[in-house]
Amino acid sequence: MTPTLALEQAMLHPDYDRFIARVRQATPVALVDQLDAAATQATRVATTAARFTGGCDAGVATAADLPGWLRLGLLDALTRWADGKATTCRHSPDPDRPEPVLTAAWKPGLVTCIRCAHLWSLGRRANLTCDCCGAICPPDRMNPGMTQFGALIFQYGTCDDCRPSVASNNPLSATLPAEQDAARGTGRASPRGGRGCSRGKGGRR
Ligand SMILES: [Zn+2]
Ligand SMILES: [Zn+2]
Repeated sequence: MTPTLALEQAMLHPDYDRFIARVRQATPVALVDQLDAAATQATRVATTAARFTGGCDAGVATAADLPGWLRLGLLDALTRWADGKATTCRHSPDPDRPEPVLTAAWKPGLVTCIRCAHLWSLGRRANLTCDCCGAICPPDRMNPGMTQFGALIFQYGTCDDCRPSVASNNPLSATLPAEQDAARGTGRASPRGGRGCSRGKGGRR
């Protein structure tokens, strides 16, 4: 089983929240504080970006609420980064130094800091490709979105048919286990999307 699938399985387990609570208790307070601060900052970045680009739906979701392609895309980005297999921007964001980072469905294996958001822009046609089904969408039928997990923001875009919805408002007590040797911190997975949000994006991987 790959690290991505193992992490997905753990997150979907009914005892996941309790496991995370115990890990947080066993983790040095200073590190938990750093992870929480980075996650809070990432939420601020994602929310600001959403408002700046026209206002979007936002909500808190459990891992089970997310469609499989989105959940696995996010976790794949996370595990690649944690394993040192991701390409990063010149600022070399490191999982051991919590800070908000950007990843995207259309550039698997790339992780950048917030300052390097410009690295995510793509050509017009690529901007209109659904990351779920690969369909090329008319400009007014493209739904950009972000899902945040801890300090990691995963960007994507979908056609109307593939647009994810948040099925519940249950908080997700999530964390970044693979990159920290042990699960630490708290994050949230929040699909965001809406027409009129400008963003660079490209084809399905
Ligand atoms: Zn950077
Ligand atoms: Zn689609």
